[in-house]
Amino acid sequence: MYINKENYLLLKSKCEAQQVTLIAVSKTKPIEALQELYNLGHRDFGENYVQELIDKEAALPKDIRWHFIGHLQSNKVKYIAPFVHCIHSVDSEKLLTEINKQALKLNLNINCLLQMYIASEETKFGLDATEIEKILETKNKYTNINFNGLMGMASFTNNNQIIENEFSVINNFFTKNLHYFTTPILSTGMSGDYKFAIKNGSNAIRIGSLIFGNRNYKNEL
Ligand SMILES: *Cc1c(COP(=O)(O)O)cnc(C)c1O
Repeated sequence: MYINKENYLLLKSKCEAQQVTLIAVSKTKPIEALQELYNLGHRDFGENYVQELIDKEAALPKDIRWHFIGHLQSNKVKYIAPFVHCIHSVDSEKLLTEINKQALKLNLNINCLLQMYIASEETKFGLDATEIEKILETKNKYTNINFNGLMGMASFTNNNQIIENEFSVINNFFTKNLHYFTTPILSTGMSGDYKFAIKNGSNAIRIGSLIFGNRNYKNEL
């Protein structure tokens, strides 16, 4: 048993009831753990590292939808472009240009979310509201990108008010720019804060430790 089946089934039913996509974040977890979840019918998996994703994609069934959620270097886009379902972590025009270039070469469209900087911490990658608006206003030049929405990570804090404020900022901005997005996706919420994310408009949550094992989270479902 690699996964917490009870947590998974609870999350799955909550997500289905609220029309939220549950992305199982499987970074650092072995193939067997992903296979176990796959066997329960799960198809949406999130990974953070290019090499790890390539290895897992080769080893696992082809109908998995792979979500890339980590910081992505432009020179590595070509390795995941042929199969990635959605890149959640687009945090620069340079990266977007490279994804478009690789998609053009492969004659396909790649689903992308723009990562919006909402946390107060210095370490988080992302774009601010002005940068995102600038990209969206010129979105036609990225011929092979599907602009599907936004991704955000809240501050790592126990202060729920701060977390809620950050999720509400990105939700308001998302709603305001909804007309730009083909299949609008707001990817916010992780194991520790997904409830606040859903309350604030999230329709895609990225859950690692609650499904695959604890990394110091003490929240109940
Ligand atoms: C690791 C990670 C997650 C999942 O985190 P948990 O707290 O384990 O649920 C979600 N989103 C991103 C971007 C991550 O890097």
